[in-house]
Amino acid sequence: MTSLYDRHKAVIPDWVALYYKQPIEITHGEGRHVWDADGNRYLDFFGGILTTMTAHALPEVTKAVSEQAGRIIHSSTLYLNRPMVELAERIATLSGIPDARVFFTTSGTEATDTALLLATGHRRSNQILAMRNSYHGRSFSAVSITGNRSWSPTSLSPVQTLYVHGGVRTRGPYAQLSDAQFIEACVADLEDILGQTRGGVAALIAEPIQGVGGFTSPPDGLYAAFREVLDRQGILWISDEVQTGWGRTGEHFWGWQAHAENGPPDILTFAKGIGNGMSIGGVVATAEIMNSLDANSISTFGGSPVTMAAGVANLSYLLEHDLQGNARRVGGLLIERLRAIGAGVPAVREVRGRGLMIAIELVKPGTDEANPEAASAVLEAAREGGLLLGKGGGHNTSALRIAPPLSLTVAEAEEGAVILEQALHSV
Ligand code: PMP
Repeated sequence: MTSLYDRHKAVIPDWVALYYKQPIEITHGEGRHVWDADGNRYLDFFGGILTTMTAHALPEVTKAVSEQAGRIIHSSTLYLNRPMVELAERIATLSGIPDARVFFTTSGTEATDTALLLATGHRRSNQILAMRNSYHGRSFSAVSITGNRSWSPTSLSPVQTLYVHGGVRTRGPYAQLSDAQFIEACVADLEDILGQTRGGVAALIAEPIQGVGGFTSPPDGLYAAFREVLDRQGILWISDEVQTGWGRTGEHFWGWQAHAENGPPDILTFAKGIGNGMSIGGVVATAEIMNSLDANSISTFGGSPVTMAAGVANLSYLLEHDLQGNARRVGGLLIERLRAIGAGVPAVREVRGRGLMIAIELVKPGTDEANPEAASAVLEAAREGGLLLGKGGGHNTSALRIAPPLSLTVAEAEEGAVILEQALHSV
């Protein structure tokens, strides 16, 4: 009989990335665990690329989805849509953006696209600043501003992108600098770029913590220093919160709040976790920016009642159960535990992160060289032990990414740490 993997290869493009030498078919989940088609149970430390924000098969979300699906499943952005308005009201308030408007899409990529449409239209410029090593999605415009060029299948672009330093400093000349020196160097780099563009830049887009880039945070104060320079020229700040939103980082609800000296971003994009697995993305901006788009626009599926019902139920659960606080507490314990484990493994260069967004960077022992082979081997070994992880970081993906559902318990964090310790020692 032909395996599902063989059937997959026969009809799905080669460039759709799959994890594991023998890819897993996940058939169901509960809480922080999932099961594959062979009946194996895994602790899920990657939450379906951070989409299962709260928990697998959360009864509150399942109930909201099935009740809405039982009433009507269509996309009704041409008509008034109660769950969409309700979710937009809540996100507008939470966003911190004054007089906010919310536009729903079905993915993070479309959210990026919409943000670019808004920024370029509002500023009458198609020059965009983006961070090196960033990831913003896979449409034509989103790959054009994705600094990690290995994710871009094309160098053609509808926007003119200028890449700014500040995302990674794990290697090369920047690695030697103190935070203050690094910030100074990056600001000088930004000013140099702006000097060449004569004030025509529309916006800078940045992830508060680079997700696909391997959960790397800029030093405190860097983005605030950037904003001061950009604000002087009216250049918009787009915060890509697709991975950092909804309390994942523990200390803050949004990633931008860790760099809040200059207030909220002009445009915020979100996706992934808000639907707890249902496809919701979106953009938040001030009414002035959002309504400057001079067009009729609908998104046939963005804001569909079923996904919006999931979003409302998921957001309510997240807030009522203080999952941000849980991410801070359990994430804090987990990172300490992983640092202790990493101290005994020569290939572990660094354990970094905030809340439940943690990465383990692997190197060739005794060097500073990236070690993607070890990252892949640990991923496989952890799977054997019953733990799902993510990978990321630069073009050679030598970081393991840990981003479990935010309801992770202390016992489950320990369960994962034990498996991870064995996996790290086995390779
Ligand atoms: N922005 C960031 C920061 C992301 O991590 C991703 C997805 N990994 C996207 C945008 C694109 O989201 P999607 O895959 O839903 O299109």
